Amino acid sequence: MITVKDLDKIYENGSIAVQALKNVNLEINKGEFVAITGASGSGKSTFMNIMGCLDRATAGLYILDNETIQDLSDNELAEIRNRKIGFVFQSFNLLPRTSALKNVELPMMYAGIGGKERRERALDALKRVGLEDRVDHKPNELSGGQKQRVAVARALVNNPAIILADEPTGNLDSKSTQEVMGLFKKLNDEGVTIIIVTHEQEIAEETKRIIGFRDGEIILDETMKQGLKEN
Ligand code: ADP
Ligand code: ADP
Repeated sequence: MITVKDLDKIYENGSIAVQALKNVNLEINKGEFVAITGASGSGKSTFMNIMGCLDRATAGLYILDNETIQDLSDNELAEIRNRKIGFVFQSFNLLPRTSALKNVELPMMYAGIGGKERRERALDALKRVGLEDRVDHKPNELSGGQKQRVAVARALVNNPAIILADEPTGNLDSKSTQEVMGLFKKLNDEGVTIIIVTHEQEIAEETKRIIGFRDGEIILDETMKQGLKEN
């Protein structure tokens, strides 16, 4: 699903250059559930921005779902982003005065899908995240966990190759955190490829693989033993 080879990212601000990623190599297969961890400044956001086709590497190779993401124009990057990636953010990024249903329809509006199909697919996605009884609620009428589930439904609705979630539980209390992590586990069991960024070890341990960054390099790549924490 994802191949990353010898990836470097250097930010140049005038005469100052910061190497945010150094020689990153990685394979992520379809159906994996991965946590990206590391201290502030270790390169997580930079890596996620490149994975998410929001930014380009300075050097190296990035292949997403058989497409080489390199030397693409901004428009081509945007097109791949809309088609292949579902984003989930720490702060939900929902339209505040808009129902759950309309929020989930939004990515399909950008994709030019007609009203009837949009509604059907949005209802379906909301059902998948267990919110079929909240479709007409606005974000301020929903709990934090429910808001994030709406955001996950929105991320799913175009059937992306991967879900990228940046600190998805960062604004949630422990009950809502469990609600959202439980949903990710369920979706992963259904075959969805999920990559989350988190600085919380406990959250990382609920995934199946932990990739740790330090100073722009991968220093840890650990497959979790399943079952140990289940009972
Ligand atoms: P977080 O660790 O919460 O992801 P960051 O501190 O990495 O937040 O950065 C937030 C934003 O600021 C990023 O999108 C990044 O592009 C930008 N940024 C971070 N560090 C610098 C820097 N040294 N110079 C300019 N922009 C920066
Ligand atoms: P993290 O998400 O783990 O906090 P980042 O990817 O944001 O790490 O940052 C990695 C390094 O790159 C840091 O040294 C940061 O200051 C630097 N950096 C990030 N974004 C920018 C930017 N836009 N311009 C310059 N430096 C940046």
